[in-house]
Amino acid sequence: MRFAAGQTLLIDADDTLWENNLYFEKAIASFIEHLNHRHYSHEQVRHLLNQVEQESIREHGYGLHSFRRSLLRCFESLSTEPLTAEREREIIRFTHVVEDHAIELLAGVAETLPILAARHRLILMTKGNFLEQSGKLTRSQIGAHFSAIEIPAEKTPEAYRKVVDQHRLDVRSTWMIGNSPKSDINPALEAGLHAVFLPHPHTWVLEHEAVRNAPNGQHCLHLNGFAELARVFA
Ligand SMILES: [Mg+2]
Repeated sequence: MRFAAGQTLLIDADDTLWENNLYFEKAIASFIEHLNHRHYSHEQVRHLLNQVEQESIREHGYGLHSFRRSLLRCFESLSTEPLTAEREREIIRFTHVVEDHAIELLAGVAETLPILAARHRLILMTKGNFLEQSGKLTRSQIGAHFSAIEIPAEKTPEAYRKVVDQHRLDVRSTWMIGNSPKSDINPALEAGLHAVFLPHPHTWVLEHEAVRNAPNGQHCLHLNGFAELARVFA
């Protein structure tokens, strides 16, 4: 399948353009090791952390600030020892890997983006904390390929409809491309867009969901890597 020039491609950033969840996983591994819990297994601690993270996100949105809060709350509910200022600093230190790392583009991204940008309109569509996400885009040095950047707090069907209205997009030639069934694929299909699912082995567990079938007249493609987009949209 090949699609004519002039499509609008909304492209997710975290774990679609660059590595992201990997760094959170590293921080979580350090945290669990540090906790070294006598009564709970790694899996049990992780299960609780997932629940705490969902609550933190509901209250404070996505981002590092929320993540740090989750680790501290998780510590408080599991540890028999008090959360001293020193312990708090130690736990926060585990999260530095998330903000300190250099941006690592995923395979094929650097070569494929200019090919896509030459024939289509590219809009970056990433959820989360505005400063953190726009900071990563600046550090990635690929911002010039995008004609617009959208950073909604959550990627709901409404968020996609809003972008469609704002940029006067034609849903028949607009695609959402990303690694998350829950944030990229399913809500975009619900909003009437086409979708391209690019699975990533380290997709965050809170983004897991079954990919829905595309409604009549819409496409939902599954590709194995960013470079394959050049074949479909070149
Ligand atoms: Mg993503």
